[in-house]
Amino acid sequence: MSTFAKLFFEKASAQGAEVADFHVSEGFLIKLYRAATTTATLNADLNEAASRSTDSDTVKNSELHCDSEILTAVYLVEPRRASTAVHKYSGTLGVSSRIDKKSATMMAFSHFVLESTACTYMFADIQGSIELTLMKKSTITLFDPMTHSPKGKSGLGDHGLAGIKDFIDKHQCSMICRTMKLCDSESLQTTYQTLVDGSEDSDDSDDVDLPVGIASAPSLNA
Ligand SMILES: [Zn+2]
Repeated sequence: MSTFAKLFFEKASAQGAEVADFHVSEGFLIKLYRAATTTATLNADLNEAASRSTDSDTVKNSELHCDSEILTAVYLVEPRRASTAVHKYSGTLGVSSRIDKKSATMMAFSHFVLESTACTYMFADIQGSIELTLMKKSTITLFDPMTHSPKGKSGLGDHGLAGIKDFIDKHQCSMICRTMKLCDSESLQTTYQTLVDGSEDSDDSDDVDLPVGIASAPSLNA
């Protein structure tokens, strides 16, 4: 998300668009697993993995555990924020009609990401807390957004094509979108339709080409 935010600010600055200041919270995920196989099955897995390796000490953990664990919980760990008040800028489907500067900036950001990725990725459930920078300037710290992608596999809350389509159908460009010269909604509809037609032709054709790091923690590292 911070990669997209950087590109968004570069474009806003280049086009002379006045946008609200925001940045993305750092964070990481902790995943808890529990064993899913019986001891006998696990031993068989261990023996098989060891027999495939020329040196049993170098058997990789992933070989030993990939079929024997079930994800039971995921925790998102972030720095403590000065403000606990959470401001919501978009819902789970990603669109908002509020026109204040901060909301319009977030919707322009969603539009920008959608356009930049040819409708293969978008942020929804955008929320943040408002804090003051060292220069006493108001800034929004965004955290824990959801994402939508064509296959619906980018993370929890991914509504897939339905989520993307909902934003394209309902988003109304603000002055910020227009000043930044983002594409109009007709262009987004055309791009979306091309994507849908392509994915119907081939089930494997819509893997998203995302920046490194996004697959492991899509809400934070993009
Ligand atoms: Zn727009």
